[in-house]
Amino acid sequence: MRLILLGPPGAGKGTQAQRLVDKHGIPQLSTGDMLRAAVKAETEIGKKAKAVMDAGELVSDAIVNAIVSERIDQPDCARGFILDGYPRTLAQADSVEAMLQDKGLKLDMVIELVVDDKALVGRIVKRAEEAQAAGQPVRKDDNPVVFEERLREYYKKTAPLIGYYHAKGLLAGVDGMASIDDVTTQIEALLAKV
Ligand code: AMP
Repeated sequence: MRLILLGPPGAGKGTQAQRLVDKHGIPQLSTGDMLRAAVKAETEIGKKAKAVMDAGELVSDAIVNAIVSERIDQPDCARGFILDGYPRTLAQADSVEAMLQDKGLKLDMVIELVVDDKALVGRIVKRAEEAQAAGQPVRKDDNPVVFEERLREYYKKTAPLIGYYHAKGLLAGVDGMASIDDVTTQIEALLAKV
């Protein structure tokens, strides 16, 4: 099963992806996590991406496309994967389609977590507070000022993917404002039809 989780920052993509990993045994491919790992390891990609990420802007398509292309060739992706935070631009969407086509594979579904913008800043602040309380590192971009920029980037560059996947007949929406368990139930009901 090859899925994309689509939605603005703070919509709950990561949380739901983790549940799908546990239930279906396929990996979560989060470009945000991969980029943060590259920043931490101070790789060439990490050095290029750091300032862009800290500002809440999008890293170049070329960088993320290359990371994903390499990742989906790994053996653990053979049975499928969940793309979380990728694609985020139309160019990335075209790229993932080409990557899969090359391998004779296709996407099964794109699930949009439909959320109310006004609730998102609160979620991000909560995520930062919880990380701090648990002694985990707090993401630099999880603050209200950078969050506004991340949301702008989402509407400008990522939201057009909703129409793109709708036109391909791949889009399904779930109410992302419901409880975490309820969102999971909605997603599982959609996947039962795949
Ligand atoms: P996330 O963890 O998905 O919220 O991503 C954190 C940051 O990583 C984003 O604000 C971007 O700077 C960068 N990033 C993650 N995924 C992508 C992507 N697909 N395209 C461009 N930039 C990305």
